[in-house]
Amino acid sequence: MQQKNKYIRIQEFLKQNKFPDFRMNQIKNAVFKGRINYFNEITVLPKSLRKLLMNEFGDSILNIAALKVQHSEQVTKVLFEISGDEKIETVNMKYKAGWESFCISSQCGCHFGCTFCATGDIGLKRSLTSDEMTDQILYFHLKGHSIDSISFMGMGEALANIQVFDALHVLTNPELFALSPRRLSISTIGIIPGIKKITQDYPQVNLTFSLHSPFNEQRSKLMPINERFPLLEVMDTLDEHIRVTSRKVYIAYIMLPGVNDSIDHANEVVRLLRSRYKRGNLFHVNIIRYNPTVSSPMRFEEVNEKQVVNFYKKLKSAGINVTVRSQFGIDIDAACGQLYGNYQKNKNR
Ligand code: SF4
Repeated sequence: MQQKNKYIRIQEFLKQNKFPDFRMNQIKNAVFKGRINYFNEITVLPKSLRKLLMNEFGDSILNIAALKVQHSEQVTKVLFEISGDEKIETVNMKYKAGWESFCISSQCGCHFGCTFCATGDIGLKRSLTSDEMTDQILYFHLKGHSIDSISFMGMGEALANIQVFDALHVLTNPELFALSPRRLSISTIGIIPGIKKITQDYPQVNLTFSLHSPFNEQRSKLMPINERFPLLEVMDTLDEHIRVTSRKVYIAYIMLPGVNDSIDHANEVVRLLRSRYKRGNLFHVNIIRYNPTVSSPMRFEEVNEKQVVNFYKKLKSAGINVTVRSQFGIDIDAACGQLYGNYQKNKNR
């Protein structure tokens, strides 16, 4: 059952206890403008109310605890503890221009079993609540970070967790995080009902589809979800999304050496996208180099740079919008599931 988020629960609690509406506004202002985490420090509230809130909701607004923080020059990776003794990961990336972007988890583990993915190896522990997702951002907000963009690309498949929609609501609510939906991105392996819901409810949220192979059969081997939601059906759903929203859709393509980096693959990606609405002009392919240091169910070789360049050129010369994503954050290993895996290993030693 979908749990109400804490902002609604606090509001309902105040109402039940006959407090005037402006008390909730004071709490929201304290948290989102004043960056105050503890009820007891919201001094505009009467002491008696602060006590009641602490009894009901605990001392702090933030309900997840940072267990481990790993820094590199531009990347900070945090392992959080959530209820049930589970762990999730969040990544913060700082760009030179001062822009801060965040990659948050939507599930603890994942059961989709993509062969190149460390999180898939963990299996699904559980989906996160809306609070657990938004708390990953609240943690950084309270520490004074500016929240410029967020992608649901950490652990888990965002569109397999219905609570993601409530998290989107909290993040875009003008009285809470107040983020423009255009600053949010959802990444999916192709869960068709979820994509349709994004089209309808959050048309301005950016959508990234993890393609990884343009060949249906091979894609099924790499990503078993393809059996349930076959590639061409997903592409039709994305086409519809573009028609309705006029928004760009991003295509993520991890280069797996010797597996999906051939010129045949590049040609097929071109064919797949060119046959789409407006000749695929509203698709943008992001080529991502596979990181061989990540522990994934299947092992792949070091990326062949020549293949990456050839693949890129093939797409580019066919008029496809394409970028090769930099290895940003590679030293800290920003791939999902890795920090969790290392933590478990050390714990079991
Ligand atoms: Fe799950 Fe995404 Fe990893 Fe696939 S790539 S196993 S959907 S977390």
